[in-house]
Amino acid sequence: MKVLVVGGGGREHALCWSFKKDPTVKKIFVAPGNAGTEEFCTNLPIGIYDMDNLFHWARENRPDLTVVGPEAPLCDGIADKFESIGLKIVGPKKRAARLEGSKAWTKELMVHYKIPTAEARIFENPIDAIHFSKSFHFPQVIKADGLASGKGVLIVHDPTQAENSIRKLMDQKIFGAACKKILIEEFLEGIELSLFVLLDGQNYRVLAAIHDYKKAFDFDKGLNTGGMGAFFPSPIFDASLQSSIEKKILLPLLEAFQKEQIIYKGILYAGLMITRFGPAVLEFNIRLGDPEAQVLIPALQTSFLEIAQALTETKLEALKIQFNENLHYVGVVVAAQGYPEHIEIGKEITLNEQGLTEEERKQSLLFHSGTKKIDGRLVSSSGRVLCSVGWAQSLEEAKKMAYRRIDTIHFEGMFYRKDIGQLHIPSFFL
Ligand code: ATP
Repeated sequence: MKVLVVGGGGREHALCWSFKKDPTVKKIFVAPGNAGTEEFCTNLPIGIYDMDNLFHWARENRPDLTVVGPEAPLCDGIADKFESIGLKIVGPKKRAARLEGSKAWTKELMVHYKIPTAEARIFENPIDAIHFSKSFHFPQVIKADGLASGKGVLIVHDPTQAENSIRKLMDQKIFGAACKKILIEEFLEGIELSLFVLLDGQNYRVLAAIHDYKKAFDFDKGLNTGGMGAFFPSPIFDASLQSSIEKKILLPLLEAFQKEQIIYKGILYAGLMITRFGPAVLEFNIRLGDPEAQVLIPALQTSFLEIAQALTETKLEALKIQFNENLHYVGVVVAAQGYPEHIEIGKEITLNEQGLTEEERKQSLLFHSGTKKIDGRLVSSSGRVLCSVGWAQSLEEAKKMAYRRIDTIHFEGMFYRKDIGQLHIPSFFL
C-alpha cells in the first residue's frame, strides 16, 4: 500500500512513523516532509499551499490513502479534489472545513445550535470593534476570523491593549484576509483540553483527550504559539466529563451537521475550556493537533492506518481502538530563538544520544518539525524545530524521559518550556 502524508511538521513525522511500523504500508510519500521523514520516506518537493502540484502528483501516482496534517489544504478543498478522482483521503471536505476556516461562521453555528462557547461579537470594521471593546468586560480575547497558524488570537487586559490589537489585525492586516472579520470574545477561565473525535460521516468515536500548552513560555507566559508541548492521558478526563462533553457539545454539533447538510469525515479536534459551569468550546479544528499528535500516535497500539481506513471506508463502528496500557506520554517542543515572532532559522543542529541510558533511549523519541538537511548538515528551518516525546508508567517519569532526550539536542538559541506535564487546576475544580 502506498500512502501520502501532506505536511511537514512533527505531527506528520509522527504519522509517517506510525505508517512505517505497519507491514501493509510499502511506501510513504510526504509533501513536503522534513529531515526526520527523509530518513525513511520519500519527501516530495511540494508545499502544503501548492494545491495544483499536490493534485497533479496524486493523479499521476494514485496513493491508496492520503492523510492531511495541516488545516490549510483541507480548507482549500483538497479532500473534494482527491475524492473527485476516486482517491481515499482523511479529512473533511471544504464545506465542513469551514469549522476551522472561519471562526465567525462557527461561532454563529454554535450559538444557533446552543453549543456552549464564549460569548462573542463579530466585527467587520475596527471602529465598531474598538467601541464595543470599551464596553465589554476584560480580559477579552480578540481573534482573527480566518487561519493564522495558531497566532491570530490575542488576549488583552485593558482598552489600550485591545485597541492596539484590533488595529494590528484590521488596519495593519497582519494576517491578511484572515482579519477581514474579527471576533471579540469573553475570556473563559478553566482547564484547557484538546478532544479528538473520529467521524466517518455516520458514526463518531471519542479518541482521546490531551492537554497542550499554547503559550510560548513557562507558566503560560508570552504569546500564543502553535503549541509548545502536550501530555496524555488527561488526569481530569473521566467518564462523567466525557458524557457531559458528548451531551452538550458533540451531539448538538452532529445535529447541526445534519440540519446544515454537512458531511464530516475525518478527525475533529475540539479545543475546549472546562469551566466551573462545564465544558465550553474555544474552537473547532478539522485535523490532528501538533504537538498532540506526537503524544497520541506513539500511545496508540492500534495502527493509525486502521483508524484512517475506518474513516475513509465508513467502518468506524467496527473499529477496535487500543492504547498502550498504563503509560503516560509527554511531548516537549524545542523551538527556535524568537518563536513565535522573529524566528531565527538556519542554525546547525547536533543530536548526540551518547549520554542516554538504555532505558531513556527506549522510552523516548524525537520527532522533527522545522528541520532540513543542507549538504549533509541538519539545520533548523522554522519556529518549532523538534519535539521530544517520553513515556513511562508515571507522568513524572515520562516527563523525565522527554527532558532527558532534550539534553541530546543542541542548536544556537533553542528554547523549550520546562513545565510540560504540570497542570494548573483552578480552585473551583478542587
Ligand atoms: P489553533 O492553533 O489551535 O488553531 P487558534 O489560533 O485557531 O489555535 P484558539 O484555539 O481559538 O485559536 O485560541 C488559541 C488559544 O487562545 C487557546 O488554546 C486558548 O489558550 C486561548 N483562548 C482562545 N479563546 C479563549 C477564550 N475565549 N478564553 C480564554 N482563552 C482563550
